[in-house]
Amino acid sequence: TTDRDPLLLTPGPLTTSLRTKQAMLHDWGSWDSAFNRITADLCQRLLAIAHGEDSHVCVPLQGSGTFAVEAALGTLVPRDGKVLVPNNGAYCARILKILRYLGRAAVELPVAEDQPASAAAIEAALIADPTITHVAQVHCETGAGILNPLPEIAAAVARQGRRLIVDAMSTFGALDIDARTLPFDAVIAASGKCLEGVPGMGFVIVRRSALEAAAGNCHSLAMDLHDQWIYMQKTTQWRFTPPTHVVVALHAALEQ
Ligand SMILES: *Cc1c(COP(=O)(O)O)cnc(C)c1O
Repeated sequence: TTDRDPLLLTPGPLTTSLRTKQAMLHDWGSWDSAFNRITADLCQRLLAIAHGEDSHVCVPLQGSGTFAVEAALGTLVPRDGKVLVPNNGAYCARILKILRYLGRAAVELPVAEDQPASAAAIEAALIADPTITHVAQVHCETGAGILNPLPEIAAAVARQGRRLIVDAMSTFGALDIDARTLPFDAVIAASGKCLEGVPGMGFVIVRRSALEAAAGNCHSLAMDLHDQWIYMQKTTQWRFTPPTHVVVALHAALEQ
């Protein structure tokens, strides 16, 4: 029985509440208007956590967190873009690997794995290479627990007129990320981490103007967040089969 399951801790996937589990006792059709209202409300709630209602939109995506990271990079970085990746751990290294797969130019900024990334070093790297278009920053390196100084990094990236993409998988919902004061184009997280849903979907809080400008960037149909967003606005539905139980569980978790 469930009360004999081992206790799973943050960042996740983690132990979910009874109410969250109970939300999954129903079945939903992907064309069901009641289900699509839950998706819309879920996206609004996720956007509100980042205070992005005036500037950003929330685009959900099927899959684990890495799917959403890959989708954000593939959608927002143009094919001739170039990404600076401060690297102090496994998830930074994964971003570099994704960029290699996508054929997007990347510049690694090595950082010791027991040290946070430095906003000053990032700013110096941007000044040294004006062809860098984006910075991809992991908020917390989950394995080592190193928290990178996001407000300082975001300010430095904005000062240099570049774009910031944040993997906030293990912090979103636990540590504040405020779109009103912290400039970013994308913050990426997933259902099964600090928000205490079950794993199975990611989402990207993305600056509306950046997403509007991203049509045609993506190398992949399934990973194209622009296409997902356009389709969802038109139809209220997910573009391909949604993870229905995951969606209602995350919605229930947010209500709690
Ligand atoms: C969990 C996590 C991811 C995504 O990993 P998945 O196994 O694809 O869910 C990405 N970045 C960070 C920082 C994470 O903690």
